[in-house]
Amino acid sequence: MLESTYIPAQAGRWLSQWQILFLTIHALGIACFGYIVAKRMVPLLRAERDFRFDQPLVRLGRVLQFWLGQWKHPRYRTAGVIHIVIFAGFIVLACRAFSLLFFKISGDFLMPGFSGTTGNIYDVITDYAATMVFFCMVIAATRRLVFKPARYAVPPGYGKAHTVDAIFLLVLIAVLMVADSLFAASTVAGRFQQGEPVEALAVLSLPWILKSALASTSLPTLWNIRLGAYLLHQVTFYFLLCYRPFGIQFHVETSLFNVYFAKLNRGTLKPVRWDVSDEHLDQVESFGVKTFEDFTWKHILDFYSCADCGRCSDNCPSHAVGRPLSPRFLTIKARDYSFKHYPVLGNAGNGTALVGGIYSDDEVWSCTTCGACEEECPLLVEYIDKIVDLRRGLIDDGNVPQSLQKPLKALESRGNPYGKMEKKKAEWAKAKDFQSTCDVKILDGNRQADTLYFVDSITSYDDRMQSIGRSTARILDHVGENYGILGAAERDSGHEVRRFGEETLFMALRDHNVEAIQASGARRIVTADPHSYNALKHDYKDVPPVEHISQVIAREVKAGKVKFNPVENQTAVYTYHDPCYLGRHNQIYDDPRDVLDAIPGLKRVEMKRSRDRSFCCGGGGLMLFYEPKEDQRMGVKRVQMAAEAGANVIVTACPFCMANIEDAIKVAGLEGRMTAIDLAELVDQQMIRQVCATVSVNPPDRVAQQESILEPKTAIGG
Ligand code: SF4
Ligand code: SF4
Repeated sequence: MLESTYIPAQAGRWLSQWQILFLTIHALGIACFGYIVAKRMVPLLRAERDFRFDQPLVRLGRVLQFWLGQWKHPRYRTAGVIHIVIFAGFIVLACRAFSLLFFKISGDFLMPGFSGTTGNIYDVITDYAATMVFFCMVIAATRRLVFKPARYAVPPGYGKAHTVDAIFLLVLIAVLMVADSLFAASTVAGRFQQGEPVEALAVLSLPWILKSALASTSLPTLWNIRLGAYLLHQVTFYFLLCYRPFGIQFHVETSLFNVYFAKLNRGTLKPVRWDVSDEHLDQVESFGVKTFEDFTWKHILDFYSCADCGRCSDNCPSHAVGRPLSPRFLTIKARDYSFKHYPVLGNAGNGTALVGGIYSDDEVWSCTTCGACEEECPLLVEYIDKIVDLRRGLIDDGNVPQSLQKPLKALESRGNPYGKMEKKKAEWAKAKDFQSTCDVKILDGNRQADTLYFVDSITSYDDRMQSIGRSTARILDHVGENYGILGAAERDSGHEVRRFGEETLFMALRDHNVEAIQASGARRIVTADPHSYNALKHDYKDVPPVEHISQVIAREVKAGKVKFNPVENQTAVYTYHDPCYLGRHNQIYDDPRDVLDAIPGLKRVEMKRSRDRSFCCGGGGLMLFYEPKEDQRMGVKRVQMAAEAGANVIVTACPFCMANIEDAIKVAGLEGRMTAIDLAELVDQQMIRQVCATVSVNPPDRVAQQESILEPKTAIGG
């Protein structure tokens, strides 16, 4: 279809005059695009370093999966399908667009390999591709203008909507498709009138419909239509190319690179500076992100790559409960800032403070680092590292929220946020009833063990959570593990301290713990706290491998070492709440569920938001001390989700989730009708023990709590 056999005699002359115009359009278009992209690169070149050049094959695999394979798009079915069709259409049409660029300059230009039968087949496919893309543009514009999914809305105070920009771009793409199709239709119609052999247009495609409409048009008019369609295509193509870097469509150019350079390791945090080791951090003048230029080049590439689809905010628990945070707008505001301060025409402005400028303190502190936004983003835009970097900047300037000052001071002086004495760290293991059946070794140099049970602050000091510690110890005992704890030598893992931006304090806690862990001689670590698990696995170096207790239990269940008594309560319906730092950040979804499913008679339902879409309970660690502005507690929303799923027992595997969920059950008025239990506690309660230990170690408090839901009461959730 692209061959130029259809060139009437008078058209040949006219065409040669037009070639100058087409060449000019090409030259201008390419020069403008090059200039605009070069200007857009300026902030990236001024930005902080970021190390993203490792593991090229893994990165290539991610490009194939997330960019070419559009892996995350179907998570939102309608929008996802529309996007996949548009993307596939673009890929198919890319060759034709390239051929068309050269067509009028070199009349017989054809992309290599696109002649003969292959070319004919490709033409049919492109006819359908152009048609599908056109209709997808109509549907997408209708969705933006008429049906407007809630996630497109702009909450008050978050800036302006980019709907006009989005619609304008959709219209431009639709025009491009029509021009492409009109060109193909007029070519075939003209050749047909000349009695030349013509390729078949794809039936019911846009070119096919247009060709039918042009059937009785005179040859000279067809020629003009064809030339006009070509001109329209070229002008629209270059206009689109140059306009995209001014708005949300810039992701068409940047997304491939953004996906290639995306973060590979979940659960990790970026260092304060990529090129500065911990030992030299004291030489760093300023920590964190304070001005736009403090972001890394990859983070600025993130800003350019956001498609404004709203999926991140739609899944953000902070946004859902009315905290002043919308991850989507963290990006949009930064991109708007970038475009304003680094204009295409003119010089860059001076860097201004971001917090207090485009962001508020509350916005930065409202994040629980749950990772739901990153999990959802189809373009792999990152948030946690940026938010932590903004917090590092605030902390560096002494800007610590009032409610966090006391726990941070206590962490500094006592190694735990409660300010409790170190010597009381192991008191949970000395409770009379417990100690008589379970001897927890303190690895203080006199006693040694293969396995270290890292308890962490909340389980050690919080009266309620100590039950999780005792259950964990009993399970380790039951499976014959040679284990012990650090006792007074253990400090807080520092997981939340680090995520709150207090890097120096985190390093002090970490270094102390690493020394104590190494001195213990343990060859592996077990913990029941996903935050400690994540810290030990990703934030610490030179410590033995770590497992969460749910992994240990799942393995022992499979090996037949742990067997369960059936659940007696037939009215209990269990649901598992995925803790963010076990699930999303470390991909442990199945082990806890496998354990639950191994308990005979246990009825389990899934909440709508589960596994990688789990809804944060309200944040662990220091979030327990932070008082955010919010309309509702996250935990309350979560227990309502459990009730909607028909559950009356929420099982979790994290002491922080337990604290938030138990509190939320009270606030939601579901006490007596809903209860929460930790996986370790449930296993401890249900596992079949050696005869001598069975009676004495069954934790009476947990049994009583479970029995409280034995009697069916008023239906939950309605
Ligand atoms: S990490 Fe969680 S709380 Fe923070 S912005 Fe993302 S979704 Fe929201
Ligand atoms: S960051 Fe990702 S999920 Fe959020 S609006 Fe942008 S493209 Fe969509």
